[in-house]
Amino acid sequence: MTGTLPPSAGVIGWPVAHSKSPMIHRFWLGKLGLDGDYGRFPVHPDRLGDAIRALPALGLRGVNVTVPHKVAVMAYLDRADAVAAAVGAVNCVLVADDGLAGTNTDVAGIVESLAGIAFGDAPAIVFGAGGAARAAIVALQQLGAGPITIMNRTVARGAALLADLGQTGDALPLDAPLPAAALVINATTMGMSGQPRLAPDLTRLRAGATVFDMVYAPLETPLLAVARAHGLRTIDGLAMLIGQAAAAFALFYGQPAPRQHDAELRALLIA
Ligand code: NAP
Repeated sequence: MTGTLPPSAGVIGWPVAHSKSPMIHRFWLGKLGLDGDYGRFPVHPDRLGDAIRALPALGLRGVNVTVPHKVAVMAYLDRADAVAAAVGAVNCVLVADDGLAGTNTDVAGIVESLAGIAFGDAPAIVFGAGGAARAAIVALQQLGAGPITIMNRTVARGAALLADLGQTGDALPLDAPLPAAALVINATTMGMSGQPRLAPDLTRLRAGATVFDMVYAPLETPLLAVARAHGLRTIDGLAMLIGQAAAAFALFYGQPAPRQHDAELRALLIA
């Protein structure tokens, strides 16, 4: 029955006013000339189950899920795919004929961000041990990465994450010297506006190493500035933001996001 309605999706969070997802999805809908919509739904944690159960009746194709619901939402789904199960969090719920399905497109966003980077099975460093770090390690495992060093304020949390994902590597404090890695990913909140800086000594990284910062506000973080000063390859947080949204867009609207407009979209997102 919903097939006759314009395709609609949205984002659920608490708060959700800051979410860039409506801007991204509406941009792509406009470029494709699709008669569809993408809404913004503030959902209090106490009402999450009500909101998720109401998705089919509201005629929505699905929703993105953001803070603080990414883990809690799993209790209200009929199934979660292998990626969501590995990450332990869902950022995308799909309304299927046979129930509500969860996936995690952050992993696809990270894999896309790292596309074309030949780090092979060289050591990688992940700063952080929260949800984004977990997605980063799952993505690195998909890409066949080698040993991973987690550097985190709470070292025990880093060690637990490595063990939980069956990943070889060490957990170190933030002030430890960096190992000679070919890839560094910042999956902490450090570097965000108003948060502590992350600007480690990168001199021990391998020549030609890549530094990827998931933070996108600001876009040029202290970490990326240091990396650029060392002549290293850099990837900013908008690459992942747009990549994870593109994976969700294809699931919601049944066609690929029109990525030939990425430069215009990036300009819109940082305006
Ligand atoms: P999270 O689960 O809350 O984890 C936060 C991480 O940051 C933890 O490792 C935490 O260390 C560390 N941290 C927080 N405050 C710190 C401080 N003052 N000093 C040192 N470390 C601190 O958050 P998340 O969901 O993983 O998100 C992490 C970052 O990824 C955020 O900046 C988010 O915006 C970004 N992100 C970007 C995208 C994108 O599309 N670009 C997508 C998802 C997330 P402890 O373990 O010691 O607490």
